[in-house]
Amino acid sequence: MADCIFCKIAAKDVPAPIVYENADVVAFKDLNPRAPLHVLVIPRRHVERLSELDDEALAGKLTLAAAKVAKDAGHGDNFRLVVNNGAGAGQSVFHVHFHVLGGRLFSWPPG
Ligand code: 5GP
Ligand code: ZN
Repeated sequence: MADCIFCKIAAKDVPAPIVYENADVVAFKDLNPRAPLHVLVIPRRHVERLSELDDEALAGKLTLAAAKVAKDAGHGDNFRLVVNNGAGAGQSVFHVHFHVLGGRLFSWPPG
């Protein structure tokens, strides 16, 4: 989608430190990391938010890619997966993304 920063990253029109990619998903380091490991996993296809993702296979691929990213970074045993769905939940980029966070302790419930 034009003017979507994550579409541009997926297309490599905008540079980002990509840590994993396959035919369907791209994973890259967050610009403003909130943990030693902070990677965003996105579908190549533009979908605004999780509640608009209707492709079960793609949802599974995103989830498995997130676990792989954590494992490959050495945090497979302790990591947190976060999806902010909607502005009220903290979503600021409207191309669905899974935050993979690891390398520190996390409190519960999240803020
Ligand atoms: P949200 O608030 O939508 O859940 O998360 C958006 C995330 O995208 C934020 O953590 C923010 O730091 C990250 N982000 C925003 N723009 C860019 C960018 O251009 N490059 C990268 N690598 N991360 C970005
Ligand atoms: Zn997009």
